[in-house]
Amino acid sequence: MKLTADETVRAAEFFTQAITRLATRPVRIMEVCGTHTVAIFRNGIRQLLPPAVELVSGPGCPVCVTPNEYLDKAIAYSRQPNVIITTFGDMLKVPGSQSTLMAERAQGADIRIIYSPLDSLQIASDNPEKSVIFLAVGFETTAPTAAAVILQAERQPITNFFVLSSHKLVPPAVRALLAADDIRVDGFLLPGHTAVISGLAPYLFIAGEYQVPSVVTGFEALDILQGIYMLLKQITAGTAELDNQYRRVVKPEGNEAARNILEQVYQPAAAVWRGLGEIPNSGLALRQQYAGFNAEVKLPLPPLLTREPAGCRCGDVLCGKIEPASCPHFAQGCTPEHPVGACMVSVEGACAAWFRYGQGRWNYA
Ligand code: SF4
Repeated sequence: MKLTADETVRAAEFFTQAITRLATRPVRIMEVCGTHTVAIFRNGIRQLLPPAVELVSGPGCPVCVTPNEYLDKAIAYSRQPNVIITTFGDMLKVPGSQSTLMAERAQGADIRIIYSPLDSLQIASDNPEKSVIFLAVGFETTAPTAAAVILQAERQPITNFFVLSSHKLVPPAVRALLAADDIRVDGFLLPGHTAVISGLAPYLFIAGEYQVPSVVTGFEALDILQGIYMLLKQITAGTAELDNQYRRVVKPEGNEAARNILEQVYQPAAAVWRGLGEIPNSGLALRQQYAGFNAEVKLPLPPLLTREPAGCRCGDVLCGKIEPASCPHFAQGCTPEHPVGACMVSVEGACAAWFRYGQGRWNYA
């Protein structure tokens, strides 16, 4: 049911007042997902909340958590003859150890921005003499589409299409945050779009094992306010459950068809996250049966020297340890035009959101 503008304002007032009544002590809430971070800033939600409620960003921006090693591999591939790199646009400006895909493209590398992984198959079909490598970065939301494209490539068949996979799963990263001694979170706003695929079960451990409240939440301003309200209710009652604010979209069982495609092509594997390091079973590796589409198997690279950007605190931002403005580069050497780290590049990056919407002090948009 669509609310009128007046009804929306009244609902926002209701949730804001209820949150304020419930916030009788300082609480730290992590919005795990970068889409939530941006929605929170764009809708001015931080300004609506009482000072006792602190929102911190988490590791839910796929471009941000992709370590430099991956960027360096992509750049190394782009420098090879007869290789076409296909990627979503937000990877272009992410700094690798020494270069960016954008800089490589300016120097002649064949790097093409796509809007769907399917575009990569068409490019591969149109360029049979070249190797087309798709940069597969994303969470549960996007990985099934990449898996479906691999299945289609197998059916056609297309033999010059490869994937450089950095797909990741959100629940193991939340577990890593909970297991860390130096990160305190009183409640999690969980990403609705990944739960659409995974269902609720992978998140039950947050309450079951760690006794921390969590709410799967949608992306409208009212969704987020209601999600915070639902967390505050649990926190003040001293309970811990997994709640679902986004029931109109997220079913408890998730999307079984999408999961089946995913499980057919990929298997869980250890993956390195910027800020969190290597987390067991947090990545998706191509199954042996699909190794023919694995760029790292079919087109192996020599060992690369890789390093993170000097002074960049992106890892700490992604764990909720610091706010972006605490980084010495923020709005000084690091801006969306000239990013030092990945968190300033992606539209879902916390540093970029702080820069664009940061209480008007660094108004960029
Ligand atoms: S402001 Fe720039 S340098 Fe600092 S943490 Fe963010 S991305 Fe890294």
